[in-house]
Parts: sequence; structure tokens; C-alpha cells
Amino acid sequence: MFDVEYLRRQFPILETKIRDKYPLIYLDNAATTQKPFIVINSIVDYYTKYNANVHRGVHYLSGLATERFEQARDVVRAFINANSNDEIIFTRGTTESINLVAHSFCKTFLTKDDTVMLTQMEHHSNIVPWQIARDNFGFKLDYLTFDDNGELENVKEKILSVKPKLLSLCHISNTLGTVNNIKEIIDLCHSIDCYVLVDGAQSIAHKIIDVKDLQVDFFVFSGHKVYAPMGVGVLYGRKEILEKMDVYHGGGEMIKEVTMEKTIYNDLPYKFEAGTPSVADVIGLATALSWLKSNDLQAIIDYEDELLRYATEQLQNIDGIRIFGNAKHKSSCISFLADGIHHLDLGTLLDAMGVAIRTGHHCAEPVMQRFCIEGTDRVSIAAYTTKNDIDVFIDSLNKALKMLR
Ligand SMILES: *Cc1c(COP(=O)(O)O)cnc(C)c1O
Repeated sequence: MFDVEYLRRQFPILETKIRDKYPLIYLDNAATTQKPFIVINSIVDYYTKYNANVHRGVHYLSGLATERFEQARDVVRAFINANSNDEIIFTRGTTESINLVAHSFCKTFLTKDDTVMLTQMEHHSNIVPWQIARDNFGFKLDYLTFDDNGELENVKEKILSVKPKLLSLCHISNTLGTVNNIKEIIDLCHSIDCYVLVDGAQSIAHKIIDVKDLQVDFFVFSGHKVYAPMGVGVLYGRKEILEKMDVYHGGGEMIKEVTMEKTIYNDLPYKFEAGTPSVADVIGLATALSWLKSNDLQAIIDYEDELLRYATEQLQNIDGIRIFGNAKHKSSCISFLADGIHHLDLGTLLDAMGVAIRTGHHCAEPVMQRFCIEGTDRVSIAAYTTKNDIDVFIDSLNKALKMLR
């Protein structure tokens, strides 16, 4: 059985009192997760005991930092079941990973007549990089749309008729909570030689990821949404694709040899890791993933799914609440609006009672446009969220609605 109280004691921030008064009810986990002691300590450990630049020095500390840094790559590879460490590129986060692929993949693989397909439920970081690449390289962009429940519609028809060269889509929508059937979509895309990038920013903490089983071409995520530090993320890419792809950032580390005329680039994965990496954060990420694995991820997932069902029911019991995103398969977040009440007013009142939720467009304006709204209120859960958190949230929501109505 999953013991949420035992888990909670490992997160120091959960002891925080909001405005010295209210216990923290943190329901903004889709924006970022809190960090357990073991992750915080791994960063302190690095800076107090072995801070040095990696892959450079002959000295002892540099050797140690390099060893830990490369062990972290091992941990990430194992966590997502990739074949080789060459397929694990450390970036600053999901955003940088997608920008890298949008630039380098498109430059190498696409012509003017090709199409990149996205979906209407993407985070801005899975839209804007492709628009920039389109403007640079001149391919076409198209979108899969979603229905009133927040499920992708006409997927097969659209993909088979447009025949994109690459489809980039989220595993879990950060706004609607929809879990896309990526396995089926990847198989369909591969049947027409279309590559697939999966934005795993929301799924890395809430699903078991096996890139080998999925046969996905690219899988990207941010550390900070999976109990790890900010400033680090991952690009997984299939080796034979990464090898062909043009470079992205230039600088130290990504080179084999530089003359004043030209550069011979380094091998994978270093070819895509220009400059000094965020070593402490990479080690923090590996610590977080090892920690998560040691906690029985499947038990956490089942617990979270149950909690999401409970929160959904409680919300549905309140008059005048509209939930955006009613897909059959959902995970970890609920977007909603209260009739006649601005999302920001509600969020502000909840905050005054110590309940942290997210308000606004959640970096997914096309989703808001689909529903002709400006924004929503969103609650999102993590492994340390409790039934009590949900009850306090619902209580506070009822109080806030009374004040606002
Ligand atoms: C958070 C998020 C991103 C962006 O992640 P960053 O850490 O800001 O780079 C992209 N896609 C989804 C689905 C997200 O939830």
C-alpha cells in the first residue's frame, strides 16, 4: 500500500504556513512539483563536496563530478528504458528540448512541401518552436483538433490524408488533463513514415514511460515537474535520427576539433550539449528519478488517479461549476470555471485561504480559444497530495463562491 503521510514527511516545504497561518494546500503541481529532502541534499552535496566542471579537468574533483554526471545519464536512460546513453541529451527543460528538435530535425529532414502536425491542445512550447522553424525553413504546419470533451478527433483520417513528416503532441494535456493514446498514434504515424515527438512534461511523473515499448522517436520532459530541480530537462531521441540531425547550439563540449575555419563536431550525446551543463541539477534529476522509482511508481499512479476521480466528483457536486476536459482517460489535473466568476478572482480568494491553484491560460491559448474563454482555474495533484488537500480546497471553494456570488 502507498503511504502518503510517509511520503509527505520527505517534503520540507509542505510544513510551510501560508501567511504564517494556513497550512499549505499545494494544488499547482502541473506548473512545478515540490522537491524531497533527498533531491535538495544531492544539490547541497554537490556544491559542498565536489563542484567542478565536467569532462574537462584532469583533477580529482572534475573526475568525480564527471562520473556522477554520467551516472545520472544512466539513471535517466534506465528510467525511460532507452537503449543507449547516446540517446539521452541533457537540456534546460522541455522547452529547450523541443526547440532543439524543431530546429535541427526540421533543418535536416524537411523540405518546403513537408508538413509538421501538432494538436490544438499543446503547450505554447510545443507550438512556437515549430512556427519559428516553419518561418526559417519553409514547411507547412497543421493541427489535430479536439472535441468538446477534450479528446483528439479524426486522428486517423487526418494523419492518413495529410501525411505529415512529423507529429509532435503531448502525452498528457497540461490544461485538459487528457491522456492521449500515444502508442496507437505512434504506430499509425510509423505506418506512413511519420516521426513522432511526445511532449512528456506532464506524463513523466504520472505514467510509466518506456520509450522502447512505445517506439517513440523523441520524448522530452522537464526535471522540475518530476520532483527534480528547475534548469534541467531531457531530450530522448532515437540514435539513428540524432546522428543524422544537424547541430543546434555551438560552443564547448559539442566539438571534437576547432580551427579558425571550421569545426568537427563531437559524438552523441555531447554533440547536442554545448557549454557547461547544469551539473548539480542533472544530479538532482537522477536523484529524483531514483527516489520516485524506489517508491513504487505504479502505486503512486493508482493513488493519484483515485484522488483525481474524487476531486472531480466533489467539483461536479457544486452548482455552476463547468469542467473543461472530460476525456475518458485523464490524469493529474482539472480545469474548471465557476459560472459568472472570473478565474483570477477565484484563484485570488483561494490563495487568501492558503490554497495554491493556477489561473489563466496555462500556456495553452489555443485551448482557451477552442472554448471561447480567456482562462480557467486549474487544480493539479502530485504523489504527496492528500484527500484532505482536496477537502480543504472544496471547502475553500464553497466559501469563495459564497463571497463572490
Ligand atoms: C510545463 C510544460 C511544458 C514546458 O515545460 P518547461 O519546463 O517550461 O520547459 C511543455 N509542455 C507541457 C505539456 C507542460 O506541462
